[in-house]
Amino acid sequence: MKDTTDYLILGAGPTGLGAALRLDELGLDWMLLEAEDHAGGLATSFVDDQGFTWDLGGHVQFSHYDRFDRYMDLALGPDGWLTHQRESWVWIRDRFVPYPFQNNLHRLDPADRWACVEGLWQAVQALDGSVQGLDKPANFAAWMERTMGPGICDLFLKPYNFKVWAYPPSTMDANWMGERVAVPDLKAVMRSICLNQDDVGWGPNKVFRFPVRGGTGAVWKALAARLPAARMRYGSRVARVEPEGRAVHTEAGDTIRARHILSTIPLNHLIRMSGGWVEAATADRLVYSSTHVVGIGIEGQPPEALRTKCWMYFPEAHSPYYRITVFTNYSPNNAPRPGAQWSLMTETSESPAKPVDAERLVADTLAALGKDRLLPDPDAVCSVVHRRLPQGYPTPFLGRDPVVDPVLRRFEEAGIWSRGRFGAWKYEVANQDHSFAQGYECVDRLAAGAGPEAEPTLHRPSWVNGRRNG
Ligand SMILES: Cc1cc2nc3c(=O)[nH]c(=O)nc-3n(C[C@H](O)[C@H](O)[C@H](O)COP(=O)(O)OP(=O)(O)OC[C@H]3O[C@@H](n4cnc5c(N)ncnc54)[C@H](O)[C@@H]3O)c2cc1C
Repeated sequence: MKDTTDYLILGAGPTGLGAALRLDELGLDWMLLEAEDHAGGLATSFVDDQGFTWDLGGHVQFSHYDRFDRYMDLALGPDGWLTHQRESWVWIRDRFVPYPFQNNLHRLDPADRWACVEGLWQAVQALDGSVQGLDKPANFAAWMERTMGPGICDLFLKPYNFKVWAYPPSTMDANWMGERVAVPDLKAVMRSICLNQDDVGWGPNKVFRFPVRGGTGAVWKALAARLPAARMRYGSRVARVEPEGRAVHTEAGDTIRARHILSTIPLNHLIRMSGGWVEAATADRLVYSSTHVVGIGIEGQPPEALRTKCWMYFPEAHSPYYRITVFTNYSPNNAPRPGAQWSLMTETSESPAKPVDAERLVADTLAALGKDRLLPDPDAVCSVVHRRLPQGYPTPFLGRDPVVDPVLRRFEEAGIWSRGRFGAWKYEVANQDHSFAQGYECVDRLAAGAGPEAEPTLHRPSWVNGRRNG
């Protein structure tokens, strides 16, 4: 193996591939090490023993970047995509309520509806009375209360967010949300109640697309295949990074030296493998949750209530899952016999604050699906898979940036650029489009000898998320 290179990329997920594609465009000297035998990272798909295709949790393609869209087109071609109107729902009190929840309160019983409206009203009055000089909310729970009022928080937001994040919202920061959480529009709230009408048109991902075949992972497989094979080293797990010598040692015993190292390895692991360059205890301060994905393949067609739904949120405690995707609605080819089978993909979070009994999870999931009337005939189940992602969500924990930012800077002093979902640990810029952009922009920065302004995705997340980028 060649033992020196200008740019060494660690990891072939969306961040590493964004970097590699840019380096290839610029004609620079680079090499990529990937522990697995394939590209894609957390955005990989796999086929189970029965022939069902699964993603590692519900992945939808929506993008803030024209460039990302061009790469998506390039990956699968114009005929490689299905486009969907987003339909997301909340399952609560034994019924479906369209998302955003607060714009569809007419679906609730009168007592719940009033509790929600009364809380919203209090919240709006409090905001009106103190627009000037309002302190920043101390944490995510306080932000929710202030924005939505106690009714919606108690019924939906707080229990739901605990299920997703696996940490109490009071231990999370409030600065990461941007456009991600729908904030109330009183007119829309009242319209749906008075006209008894659903409002489903919110959000950055109203329309999204999905690969016709092969799941989300097909995109990254196709993009990786466009790169020169000689530069891609699969099955090369990095064991140690030596910041002083700008060298990387693999488990197999290879050593590669580089001018620049672009790491997409989770930052907590990078800290531990770099021999004290950053105090090892810092790794333990980086909060994350694990994700369990349980996929259920089923004979026949979905029940009427699920025919057009994309994904559903589950705030209540009787079910382990926080979200379910009707995965064959994304592409019928996610089942081996399209049209004659369908599939549900559930996600359950885990953390020290919310342990999961992995042995029981499949049984608990199937029981809850029955109770939630999503699986009318348990005998029709023909495939069950369970995968645990040790690191699924980089938690926006209280005080995150003062922990993470100095670590990133310390590595940068040694020419090690840690980027990506767990590389930079910024949930607000941790989707596929953001990750790809982080890799791409970091290369542009290094190639031009520029400063942080060349990496807007990492350094100006709200700005990037609030606009359409080139
Ligand atoms: C449950 C879930 C749902 C999601 N939903 C969406 C969604 O709807 N839309 C969306 O756009 N995004 C979604 N994402 C995010 C998406 O998966 C990430 O944006 C993306 O995968 C991050 O890319 P990355 O390259 O930064 O990291 P990763 O994908 O984690 O890639 C890192 C790579 O580094 C490799 N690696 C790690 N350690 C080593 C080592 N020691 N040596 C060599 N290689 C190593 C890994 O094998 C991996 O290939 C979701 C993620 C999860 C977990």
